[in-house]
Amino acid sequence: MTARILVVDDIPANVKLLEARLLAEYFDVLTAADGFACLDLCARTQVDLILLDIMMPGMDGFEVCERLKSNPKTMHIPVVMVTALDQPADRVRGLKAGADDFLTKPVNDLQLISRVKSLLRLKALSDELRLRAETAHTIGMEELMKAEMRNDESGNVLLVDGRGSSQERIVKALKPIAQVTAMSDPQAALFEAAETPFELVIVNSNFDDYDPLRLCSQLRSLERTRFVPVLLVTEQGADTMVVRALDLGVNDYIVRPIDPNELIARCLTQIRRKRFNDRLRSSVQQTIELAVTDALTGLNNRRYLDNHLAVLFQRAKARSRPMSLCITDIDRFKSVNDTYGHDAGDEVLKEFARRIRSTVRGADLACRYGGEEFVLVMPDTVPEMATAAAERLRAVIENEPFRLKGAGVDLHITASIGLSSTLWGAPSPEALLKDADRALYEAKRSGRNRVVAAAA
Ligand code: GH3
Ligand code: MG
Ligand code: MG
Repeated sequence: MTARILVVDDIPANVKLLEARLLAEYFDVLTAADGFACLDLCARTQVDLILLDIMMPGMDGFEVCERLKSNPKTMHIPVVMVTALDQPADRVRGLKAGADDFLTKPVNDLQLISRVKSLLRLKALSDELRLRAETAHTIGMEELMKAEMRNDESGNVLLVDGRGSSQERIVKALKPIAQVTAMSDPQAALFEAAETPFELVIVNSNFDDYDPLRLCSQLRSLERTRFVPVLLVTEQGADTMVVRALDLGVNDYIVRPIDPNELIARCLTQIRRKRFNDRLRSSVQQTIELAVTDALTGLNNRRYLDNHLAVLFQRAKARSRPMSLCITDIDRFKSVNDTYGHDAGDEVLKEFARRIRSTVRGADLACRYGGEEFVLVMPDTVPEMATAAAERLRAVIENEPFRLKGAGVDLHITASIGLSSTLWGAPSPEALLKDADRALYEAKRSGRNRVVAAAA
């Protein structure tokens, strides 16, 4: 994992020490001797993570952190505050300033590297998702960030802990920020995690005869828990276990005896990131859906049809299965617009789409092809069956009047349908569409409100 890390400290010896350790891990390191230089660097260059000293002349670390986190350009850069061991209150202030994590001086090597890597992993994921969301212009990034900042709703946490007394302590410590479900049976906990949308799972490694890493690895491999952050509670000196846990994809760890402030800080970081990534993921999902969905009718759009028809066609061919297709065009639709207005026309289109949806089978693909034309692709369907389906659709349109809510009138709507099939020799998806279009033209020409097959 290569990344650019900015070390900010007013004491040159501290900078040198951290720099050397990070360079040894092949990170790209920048340094700054005070808060102003830090902000300046972040404005000018791309920085992936900041290690920030608190006590600095001019502007202290809290203020630097606040400024970074309130600027949309820098707010997504993880900030790790480097605090003095004897100042636990600093952690609370750092949290309020928006810090993502803490390290205490003197900085322990394993902690430094594992925390940096864990935050960079999270950031890499966020960056990628953000890029996709931005590219698609669906959701303003600033809006998303603001939503995150406002988000101080209590977290939903699962605690898996072998001891009652320790469960009590952790639940109490997390009370200000989270609703905690405590369980002592790891297998039952795994099921619970798969059922409930927890935002964090804390695994305490205090079981007498159970390897806590087994649960961590199961959480990572189950589809439904793959994205939930995991925080491991370990003994002092359990470095080997920590390294293995981080390799397994555990997001962070904390060492007993647990400092309540540190616990809160680590949990909040994981919960905030989880919420942020969930939002990004759903916005990407939305983008994808928007790109292939017709906004008016909710059916798939032409772009989707063009892609998917080719897939279905190839599959039908490979399996020697028949496939049929029909194009439906509303008769004299222009006169609906001309008489009742464009909004009334839209109402008819929506109802038309609803009726198509209600008549097709699950395996069929219904799309709005354009204007008042709809395409229905029917895999595994011979022409006779397809003709019957098209006839059924035609009847569903004709038999029930379309009620215009706005104008308060009932309209008699009909549609013409052109039908084609691979069994009639269409050699390509394009030919299948063209055949159906020709048949549709014939249906219009011969009087409308009818189904015409491309060949027979
Ligand atoms: P035909 O029986 O020959 O199909 O006659 P028609 O009037 O349906 O055919 P034509 O292709 O001449 O007109 C289609 C009309 O559909 C023209 C256009 O204004 C209207 N239209 C296309 N898209 C929309 C839409 O999204 N909303 C509304 N309200 N009208 C639309
Ligand atoms: Mg028409
Ligand atoms: Mg038309």
